[in-house]
Amino acid sequence: MVFRKVDRWIPSIVFSSPRLMGWLVFATLLMLTLFLSFAEYQLKLSEEREKVNLKLNEVEKTLENALSDGISAAKTLGIFAQYQDDLIQNFDTIAEQILESNALVDAIQFLDSGTIVAIYPLAGNEKAIGYDLLKDSSKREDVLESIRRKEVYFAGPFRLVQGGIAIIGRYPFFEKGKLKGLSASVILFDKLLESESFNQKNLEDFEVQLSKSRSDSGVVESFVHGPSSEKPTGHTSSVFLPIGDWSLSVQLKKSTALQDVYWMLTLGLFVSSFLGIAAWNSARQPLLLRKKLAEQSQEILLANERFELASNATSDVIWDWDISTGKVYRSEHFFFLLGYDVNSATSNSSFWQSIIHPEDEKKVNDRLSDTLDGADRYWSQEFRVRKADDTYAYVIDKGYIIRNSEGKAIRMIGAIQDISIRKAAERELIELNQRLSRANEELRVFASLASHDLREPLRMISSFMSLLEKKYGPTLDQKANQYISFAIDGAKRLSILINDLLEYSKVGFDPGLIEDIDTNRLVQEVLKLKAFLLTENKAVVKVENLPPIKGIRIPIQVLLQNLIGNALKYSRQGVNPEITLSGRESKDFWEFSIADNGIGIEADYLEFIFGLSKRLHSKEKYPGNGMGLATCRKIITQHGGKIWVESTPGEGSTFLFTIRKRG
Ligand code: ADP
Repeated sequence: MVFRKVDRWIPSIVFSSPRLMGWLVFATLLMLTLFLSFAEYQLKLSEEREKVNLKLNEVEKTLENALSDGISAAKTLGIFAQYQDDLIQNFDTIAEQILESNALVDAIQFLDSGTIVAIYPLAGNEKAIGYDLLKDSSKREDVLESIRRKEVYFAGPFRLVQGGIAIIGRYPFFEKGKLKGLSASVILFDKLLESESFNQKNLEDFEVQLSKSRSDSGVVESFVHGPSSEKPTGHTSSVFLPIGDWSLSVQLKKSTALQDVYWMLTLGLFVSSFLGIAAWNSARQPLLLRKKLAEQSQEILLANERFELASNATSDVIWDWDISTGKVYRSEHFFFLLGYDVNSATSNSSFWQSIIHPEDEKKVNDRLSDTLDGADRYWSQEFRVRKADDTYAYVIDKGYIIRNSEGKAIRMIGAIQDISIRKAAERELIELNQRLSRANEELRVFASLASHDLREPLRMISSFMSLLEKKYGPTLDQKANQYISFAIDGAKRLSILINDLLEYSKVGFDPGLIEDIDTNRLVQEVLKLKAFLLTENKAVVKVENLPPIKGIRIPIQVLLQNLIGNALKYSRQGVNPEITLSGRESKDFWEFSIADNGIGIEADYLEFIFGLSKRLHSKEKYPGNGMGLATCRKIITQHGGKIWVESTPGEGSTFLFTIRKRG
């Protein structure tokens, strides 16, 4: 149970922390390296120990061979001395025999008490004869030790009186418990060192020491073989030789154990670091991959969300058509737009074909296949489709075509928008336009009726009234004459009204009649027509530089006549009319204004006065029939502009109008 948990969290920790993984691998391998290096080091050390021990054995054996010869020689001579009184006379013969059987002994001595009395071979050793060892403090202790032991005891190595370095084994012999003398065997140390086991070549790697601990002084004297300039570092093995209180030690000059494992340590460190880095790198790969995956998933999620939101924001149906398979993806709005479920039955192009209005089908198919076969990237068409409730919706379908490297259309993405309302409005507009044309036609008919059919009887009334006045005027009383003149005046005004109405109805707009108009000149012509009135009213007219325009000349002239005429007509009593005309050009319009210092207009009527037959004063005070401004508005509207008035009652009015520039 616990293991299973550990099983799970170890990889999760390791893979969530690549650095930890790297360090773990590094530390484990480093520990393994250290362990193996240490084991190798130990092995090398034990090999070196073994080597040293072997050498010690070899050296010890050589030494022991010499010593055993020495013991045997000293003892043999001692026994002879005890039992043969004529030893001195036969010393050379006996000694020669002894030396013969103990080849490693170089000389043999006989001491009376502590004094050397005989030496074999004598040659070269003469100096030692008569030498009393007990009197020499440096030798005395060794002699006494052999007496104490009653056994052979070796002294040395030391320098002999007669020269050379030697070890000497002395054997005491007694008579009636009293020391009679000593026999001694001399082994030349220098010679011993020349033997096979002490051979320089053999001891090349070692240092051999024969040390002696003196029981009296406790001083350790070392006799070193193979001295080296450097202090030895290798293993030391020693053995104690009681026969001379020696400690024989062999030491390896230089231990290579550590050196031998250096490469292993270095290699291990390198491999650990390398594998640690490799482990860190491979452990972070899944993490990097996961991070990248998470980023990409996030991007996809965002893109999807954006797509969802965008398709929600627009009420359009978004579609994606795989042309090769015929499969079509459609967004949810498909249901809201047409009432069909977005399912497998509807997700193919043939379903879509089946609901296109039969009258539009050919047009749609022809254009679509033409577009797909061509090189265009965009396709757009308006047509009708049958909804689930069997009614038809007008849609505009727009698509973006994706083509392969050969230009073949492979995919198409687009949107369908319901334009039924717009289409209905368009239809309504068309109908309205048709109605308007009919009304205009009727108005024209009416105008012609008014001009011809109404004018005729009106003229008759007017002429007969004039005849009546002429012929019977003098006979009739004043009241009758006044009635007749009212009738004549009414007939005249009716005639003017019919004329104005006719003018108004005749104002049409034919773009073919548009021409360049020099407005400055046109204004001057109008002023000429009004010259009599202007002079009579002592009017002052100021015309600023006006921009030339494009428009239809006659209606524009009528407009100026009406506005200048009104500025003169609606002047204040006793105040000379002042009229200012100005104009300027803007990006899309020409703008004009005609200002006067007349009676002004109340704010409530600024819009009202532009209506048909709308006027604010009695005909007696200001003659007119209220058709002038209505005609002006009609002219300006047809020129794509606007007309309005700004006024302060009692101070004056400014009429402003614009004319749209045409492309
Ligand atoms: P009419 O002048 O024949 O009455 P209009 O349509 O030209 O008809 O003018 C309508 C009314 O607007 C006029 O009756 C008058 O009351 C007012 N009006 C027009 N121009 C001016 C003006 N310049 N100053 C003051 N009032 C004006």
